[in-house]
Amino acid sequence: MKIYTLGTGAPLAYTRATMGILVEAEGAQPLLIDTCSGNELIRRLHALGKPLHQHHAILTHRHGDHIGGVLPLAIAVQPLHLYGPTDTLDAARQLIELTYGEIAYRVLDQTSFHPVAPGASYDIGGYQVEFFEVQHRVTTYAVRLTHGGKIFAYSADSVPCENLIACARDADLFLCDAICAAQEEDPAIVADLRKLAHPTADEAAVMAQQAGAKQLGLVHLARYATPAKMLAEAQALFHGPVDVPDDNACYVV
Ligand SMILES: [Zn+2]
Ligand SMILES: [Zn+2]
Repeated sequence: MKIYTLGTGAPLAYTRATMGILVEAEGAQPLLIDTCSGNELIRRLHALGKPLHQHHAILTHRHGDHIGGVLPLAIAVQPLHLYGPTDTLDAARQLIELTYGEIAYRVLDQTSFHPVAPGASYDIGGYQVEFFEVQHRVTTYAVRLTHGGKIFAYSADSVPCENLIACARDADLFLCDAICAAQEEDPAIVADLRKLAHPTADEAAVMAQQAGAKQLGLVHLARYATPAKMLAEAQALFHGPVDVPDDNACYVV
């Protein structure tokens, strides 16, 4: 299974696109998990030499930095299947209706909305996918995806919680949001960023360690975050390989 980080930044990051993941595996269809915040989805895919042609996309929650990419996706890819919490799918539908006006109805004819729930297992594009309700400012699901005996766990946005540790249990790769280091130079910035309901790097590392994850990547960085500090904090607490990937990094599990 190949996992690409199309975007790794928080909404106001200067150089990173916002969160989007592309998963590819033999015998399965290309799958998006979150879609960046808009047309940056096309540019990150193009930089990887890939067209915008993914027919399946999971949306973890309704925040714009995760679902904005449905706008280019819905025009370019038909039919399109979207999966996520009910309120998230409603938000995606409204975005398409409100912004595309009269053509929205043609686009929506080709778009299917599939509500999912925690506790059930789904076949999405040839992957086995489970969802875990986590703690963020709106209804948000972490994603656990299994294919060919390998497990990929992804936390889009959540404060540390038991369900997130359960999602990452024994994962071959855990990509976890981490907004900054706990010990950034300016403590006022850390206090401010904590209000956004994300872990800091040390907290993400502790969860990965408790979950028995084999590898950890920290994503969803704020513009003020210091990747080197985040890496050092995580390495001190997580005993497996850990990194702070940039956009368009590729993991193979
Ligand atoms: Zn969010
Ligand atoms: Zn976010």
